[in-house]
Amino acid sequence: MNDWSSIQGHEQIKNDLRQLLAEKRLPHALLFTGIEGIGKNLTANVLAKVLFCSGEKEKPCNNCSSCRAFDAKNHPDFYCLEPEGKANNIKIEQIRQMQSQIALSPYLADKRVVIINDAETMNEAAENSLLKTLEEPTGDVVFILVTANKDLLLPTILSRCMKLYFAPLSEDEIKIILKSKYAVNEDKATVIAKLSGGSMKRAISFLDDDNFNLCQNAMDFLSKDLNAKDIWQISDEFSAMDKAKIKQWADFLQMIIRDLLLLQAGADDNLLYNRDKKDVLDKLIVNFSLNRLFNCQNLIENLVKRLSSNADLKLMMQDFMLSWREQK
Ligand SMILES: [Zn+2]
Repeated sequence: MNDWSSIQGHEQIKNDLRQLLAEKRLPHALLFTGIEGIGKNLTANVLAKVLFCSGEKEKPCNNCSSCRAFDAKNHPDFYCLEPEGKANNIKIEQIRQMQSQIALSPYLADKRVVIINDAETMNEAAENSLLKTLEEPTGDVVFILVTANKDLLLPTILSRCMKLYFAPLSEDEIKIILKSKYAVNEDKATVIAKLSGGSMKRAISFLDDDNFNLCQNAMDFLSKDLNAKDIWQISDEFSAMDKAKIKQWADFLQMIIRDLLLLQAGADDNLLYNRDKKDVLDKLIVNFSLNRLFNCQNLIENLVKRLSSNADLKLMMQDFMLSWREQK
């Protein structure tokens, strides 16, 4: 049973949304941006619930038929799109299906709400199809697009949405959630909050002690000038590991690469996942041109794709390391 108080932090955004609702000025398309794991999706869901609620006073009332249907995850006027299938993207068929649904009048509430999670994974055909709907809204529909990577969306989509930027959570906010929802003790919560970079998703991954080491390992890997012996040795070590762990390691690598890209672009330190290791990042950046960073991103994406295949793990890691060494 979520309501506004379930959302940790983001006071300004909550106030803005409530004010827009009170003044009946909420736009029909919103875009929630900010790093992963900070409450964008939760906020989108609370907003949807409030929009549906038929309560007289404070919304959501948690009591009307809409609120109850929403909490039971079967509100007939709610539509949620997420990446699907092997390519893990949002396809035009999904958009079309949604469009035919929202063309019908709402059943239970007086409007429909569509949440599009990881909106940046829409392929171009899907984006263009959605764009038409955003340009000519049919009936009373509110769209909430959620993304950690808004720059991957078409500018024409961006220009149709009211953008709300969710800042990383503060260390205190992360600590409060870790202690209240995950029963983590004070000391551990303090350490994890520092490492979290303001992302609850990242904080949760550190509840697993192995991941502390994996994150450090990813940082060391990037600092390394790989020689042939390293390549065989590291590939050997990885081939004995669980695939899920390698995936986690690749995620950590990707987060560091993303930080380096942001640093190259002169972004604010606040946007970095690895804020606690800013000194290491500053040293790394010297060796990573923009071009090399993009190549590294591609290599990591490829590795993650291959991890879900049946290819030989050791060969896969050797390939990866060899190509990695070639990137200059
Ligand atoms: Zn209600």
